[in-house]
Amino acid sequence: MELPNLTIPEINTELSYAEFLQMKADSYNKRSGNLKGYDCPLCKNKGYIEKIVDENEVLAECKCLKTRDTLRRIKDSGLEELLRRCSFKNFECTEKWQETMKDGAVKFSCQDNGSFYIGGQSGSGKTHLCTAIIGAMIKRGKSARYFVWREDSVVLKALVNDKEYVQMMDGFKKTDVLYIDDLFKQETVSDADIKLAFELIDYRDRNNKMTVISSELSLDDLIDIDEALGGRIIKMARGNKYIIPKGRDKNYRLRK
Ligand SMILES: [Zn+2]
Repeated sequence: MELPNLTIPEINTELSYAEFLQMKADSYNKRSGNLKGYDCPLCKNKGYIEKIVDENEVLAECKCLKTRDTLRRIKDSGLEELLRRCSFKNFECTEKWQETMKDGAVKFSCQDNGSFYIGGQSGSGKTHLCTAIIGAMIKRGKSARYFVWREDSVVLKALVNDKEYVQMMDGFKKTDVLYIDDLFKQETVSDADIKLAFELIDYRDRNNKMTVISSELSLDDLIDIDEALGGRIIKMARGNKYIIPKGRDKNYRLRK
């Protein structure tokens, strides 16, 4: 007896179903969404990317959600304005040491671990370079927080016995990259200041989190203030420490 169905060409229905699913996913992924504030070529501002996993349609969070979150928090913290103005591109190098410092900052901004320290006189582009590092890291999908020492440390010290303290510290502790701007920018550094800085920096170091620190203080100044804290910062930022010596003459020399 003949078996007519054997002569029917085999159709790979499994493949075509997979193709059908892929077409659906492609069509979803081509559509534009309406998320604002950051233009994402990956998800077209929907926040999600459809993937086919074991013949199931799965919506995966796009990595821009993290960036959007960071941008939102940067906006709250006031770094948004700085990020608009301060990029690597518009950092002007008139001196050799500035080039060295910039090259170091660019290199660091591509890393996934370690820390960065710029110390020395104000008005030397420290904030510009540190902001540019944060901007580059945000673009790579990392979350970031901006810690303005002379403002945030005052708030935290006042909250130290409060529930809010833990919550606020957690935000600074757990972000991918923390930028502490003008560490110890104040008349006198108290034990409470040292305790706060140590809690933050020690947590980040132990959890392999990246920290970018700018300060008018040299590494020796840091050691003088507190040996344990200064030593920790020096260890964390090894290979990424830049000190601009004090003085207004043109002979700024860079010590690495
Ligand atoms: Zn996206």
